[in-house]
Amino acid sequence: MKAGEAARAVFEAEFGSEPEGCWCAPGRVNLIGEHVDYAGGLCLPIALPQVTTVAMRRRADGRLRIRSSGFDPVDIDLRDRQIDGWAAYVAGVAWALEPPGFAGADIAIASEVPVGAGLSSSAALETAVAVALADLCGLPLDDEGRERLAEACVRAENDYAGAPTGGLDQRIALHGRAGHALLLDFADGTSDHIPFDAGKQGLTVLVVDTGTGHRLADGQYGQRRREVEDATRLLDVGSLREARSAEPIADPLLHRRARHVIGEISRVRQAAESLRAGRIRDLGPLLDASHRSLRDDFEVSCLELDTAVDAAVAAGALGARMVGGGFGGSVIALCEDARVDDVRQAVADAAARRDLPAPAFLRASASGGARRC
Ligand code: ADP
Ligand code: MG
Repeated sequence: MKAGEAARAVFEAEFGSEPEGCWCAPGRVNLIGEHVDYAGGLCLPIALPQVTTVAMRRRADGRLRIRSSGFDPVDIDLRDRQIDGWAAYVAGVAWALEPPGFAGADIAIASEVPVGAGLSSSAALETAVAVALADLCGLPLDDEGRERLAEACVRAENDYAGAPTGGLDQRIALHGRAGHALLLDFADGTSDHIPFDAGKQGLTVLVVDTGTGHRLADGQYGQRRREVEDATRLLDVGSLREARSAEPIADPLLHRRARHVIGEISRVRQAAESLRAGRIRDLGPLLDASHRSLRDDFEVSCLELDTAVDAAVAAGALGARMVGGGFGGSVIALCEDARVDDVRQAVADAAARRDLPAPAFLRASASGGARRC
């Protein structure tokens, strides 16, 4: 069943009527550029073919009734400021966007994006709701309009749901384009679509969901952000984007943190250059270097991620790294098509040998952004 049909079926079963429409938005993987968005850096995500879909019908009585398979049903008043739990990712978007004339809705959600796997199910949900509200309430959906939706979704996640997010996820979910990666520049807010069609070159971006939910909320993410701020102050720059080297920082921990950010931004530049020249295989060593840096200098990896990365590379992947905030979640491995099965087997075997959860696999091809479906 297609995602749109799934959300429509949930809607009809729950609310006994037809939705006004269905809208979907993708999960994402970041090819490279991790933990640099809040340092004015660059990153290079692609939108996934896996989407979250919302079916929606407006109401006039200020109520929000929200249903999502696998989650407790939620009925709330639109004016309630503090909604806890998953529905905050929906209500928060209405709160941040304030769509003209919007006075409540029935909403059903169906998703193909694994939740809490570092593939940004949260932004997929927010941006699907945002395009639905925009479409129904007459807000523009051109590039500029989408940028405003992205900002509203970031506010929803930070200020309403209370989860820290730097904006990468929302922007790729709204601006993603099939066959392209999106070079996002967090220093000036610009972005650039860069051709990325791995399949055409006989390559696969294999995503390994390690089955260990990432544990961003336990304070590590906030701590890394503070360390990056401290390093920025010590180097006396506006952001680490402007720094050339971590050398002047004497404190060994802050030195390593800064070295990761500065090195990672430089790797994104090289990756973008390689893609522009059509040399996708050149990403391999950059992925490996990114993982080492995240593991050793930024210290956001964990046993499950390292095990998957090491096994993938040993089985012939051109390169592999953890993606997302870290401490669990997913890994990407760039593979020759002919090696994908070997890599999958090796990663699954390595997890089993160490008594880790059985990983799940999906293939990431660069896909389109949030849309009516
Ligand atoms: P990630 O974005 O990496 O998947 P997050 O922790 O940022 O992980 O977001 C996951 C949270 O987003 C879930 O715990 C839930 O609150 C919400 N969420 C995501 N997808 C859905 C969905 N399909 N239905 C309901 N809530 C969802
Ligand atoms: Mg998220």
